[in-house]
Amino acid sequence: MTTRRTAVVTGGGSGIGRACAVRLAADGFAVAVLDLNEDAAIRVAKEIAEAGHVAAAFRADVGERAAVNAAMDAVRQAFGPIQVLVNNAGVTGTHAFMKITDELWDRIIRVNLTGAFYCCQAVVPDMVAAGWGRIVNISSSSAQGGQPFMVHYVSSKAGLIGLTKALALELGPRGITVNTIPPGFVDTPMLRDAEGRGHLGGSVDEHAQRTPVRRPGRPEDIAAACSFLCRDEAGYITGQIIGVNGGRNT
Ligand code: NAP
Repeated sequence: MTTRRTAVVTGGGSGIGRACAVRLAADGFAVAVLDLNEDAAIRVAKEIAEAGHVAAAFRADVGERAAVNAAMDAVRQAFGPIQVLVNNAGVTGTHAFMKITDELWDRIIRVNLTGAFYCCQAVVPDMVAAGWGRIVNISSSSAQGGQPFMVHYVSSKAGLIGLTKALALELGPRGITVNTIPPGFVDTPMLRDAEGRGHLGGSVDEHAQRTPVRRPGRPEDIAAACSFLCRDEAGYITGQIIGVNGGRNT
């Protein structure tokens, strides 16, 4: 009998996180769908179970260390030690640089960057004990090219790329890989919300026409890359930025 490895996907209740959770469950992982929005996490875990795979929902704000630690303990109780972590939970914002308040800055950095730091610290001991682990950080193509009116968000995602590179060097000898996928223009509630607020500088369709592959990304495009990075055979890939963006950034 093979033992299922355990994967945690933060922000797994929506968009890219949901697609990663669904895909990793189909790949044979027991998936912890962790989200601030508990109802959404429950919906996704139910969807996965109905497809015949293994998942459960957990609520936590990744920006709160105690909540992260408690949720990871609950995951261990349900499924055993954690070997895969997808740091996907994220929040965004569109503000002129001089309008970024301390509160806006702190919230975005706390969720997008400090949240990943807390989640990594909570699960790395399990991976070290197993001599095997996979961490995938969902950053953003905006951190590769910059994005006006998003200095707080872009800074948080650039930090996540730095975290990825440094942690990969430290954990490589332990059998743990750390990579980042910076998505570009993926059709999710976050993107549609930005479109609805007029923050995209054009509609999703207009942007798709300027994208080399002529369509917006699908959450499943990100999930496919995440799935690959979590396989045994991806063990020689670490510290890398794997862009999934339809050719918008090269
Ligand atoms: P989404 O549809 O808004 O999903 C994000 C999920 O994360 C939501 O369920 C959200 O819950 C949850 N979340 C927010 N703050 C949290 C927290 N503090 N703790 C735990 N969960 C939290 O967004 P998405 O488009 O799939 O984005 C997923 C990731 O990809 C984000 O990190 C985003 O920055 C990144 N990304 C997306 C794109 C894109 O084009 N869509 C491009 C570049 C990068 P609530 O519903 O309660 O907020």
